[in-house]
Amino acid sequence: MSKLILQAGKERSLFKHHPWLFAGSVDQLDGRARPGDTVEVVSSRGEPLARAAYSPHSQIRARVWTFDLTESVDHGFFKRRVAAAVARRQALPELAGQEGLRLIHAESDGLPGVIADRYGDTVVVQLTSAGADKWRGAIIDALQLATGCVRIFERSDSEVRKLEGLEPTTGWLLGEAPPEGIHIVENGVTMTVDVVGGHKTGFYLDQRDNRKRLADLAKDKRVLNCFCYTAGFSLQALAGGALDVVSVDSSGPALAIAQHNLALNPALDANRARWREADVFTELRDLRKAGESFDIVVLDPPKFAPSASHADRASKAYKDINLNGFKLVAPGGLLMTYSCSGGIGLELFQKIVAGAARDAGRSARIIQRLQGSADHPVDLAFPEGEYLKGLLVQVD
Ligand code: SAH
Repeated sequence: MSKLILQAGKERSLFKHHPWLFAGSVDQLDGRARPGDTVEVVSSRGEPLARAAYSPHSQIRARVWTFDLTESVDHGFFKRRVAAAVARRQALPELAGQEGLRLIHAESDGLPGVIADRYGDTVVVQLTSAGADKWRGAIIDALQLATGCVRIFERSDSEVRKLEGLEPTTGWLLGEAPPEGIHIVENGVTMTVDVVGGHKTGFYLDQRDNRKRLADLAKDKRVLNCFCYTAGFSLQALAGGALDVVSVDSSGPALAIAQHNLALNPALDANRARWREADVFTELRDLRKAGESFDIVVLDPPKFAPSASHADRASKAYKDINLNGFKLVAPGGLLMTYSCSGGIGLELFQKIVAGAARDAGRSARIIQRLQGSADHPVDLAFPEGEYLKGLLVQVD
């Protein structure tokens, strides 16, 4: 196995079991390795530290598969890691019965570059790193074995593949598209999942608990759901007994699925739903001009800051929607606000929301911090895994 030799002093993060090795920490590659090949990472003194996937095109030059130097990276390795990730979910009662479930959350499940989401008996897999791509056969076999699924769809079209020098690739690896489409039931609500054309692997599973939280708060409330996508939060609000739910998204196709989802749930009162195909930045101002106000405003925007270098511009965008969101909250109402940007930490996000409240002339208090569901765990050695953060704020 070729050796990836670190510069002096650059082994510290590996001692803490952080799985990434940046290009700037590497002294040289001793031997030959192609993208995705397994290399042994050694300190400048020649001490072996880990086995990792080599990625010559990426700033993240290697991602650790194992810190156990006796462990081979082979088919058996992927079988064990995939089975362990699936077992972790089965061990949590809140997750065990979920039809829509993240089975593998990349680094946080010890499988850098591997995402796998289950929607009923379909598994959608997304491979985002050279190492994961190299071992695609082993990963897919292991997923089929661990889940007994009848369909596997690959959605390896994430932008981050470019950074690894990988082409996008999508398609059915096992079975084919079911003619009736793919559906899951989440907290009693049936939702369509567009695994081929939808965002991510088709659905935002990470917000499952937070959508349930909204359902629990929504009885007799007027709710505004901004960035509604396929109406996950909106339908949970209706299921929770909301009086009126206004849903805003700039994507026509997402809103078409949203309305189809409502129709799939005849128990929900469609007369209580209003839809707006619009840019949230302008729609918040327009709603205000129209004299509207809401008991609960939900803001779940897309990732404005994929990395820390975008934090400045992203902060302004978060500030704007939160400021205008606060203005629409009726006295005594709630703002449920999120950021899924890796480049914006919780502390910064809270500061932005505080500034927005101040500039909106509202005093408000955090009643709950919100995070991703338990199938999106955060490995303690990999704090970067904590991308989703939210605040539930009560507004005077
Ligand atoms: N809350 C959703 C997920 C939101 S994803 C859920 O629980 O499923 C973010 C959504 O924001 C996408 O549907 C995207 O179409 C929409 N979007 C992005 N920029 C927008 C903008 N400026 N105005 C309105 N919608 C926008």
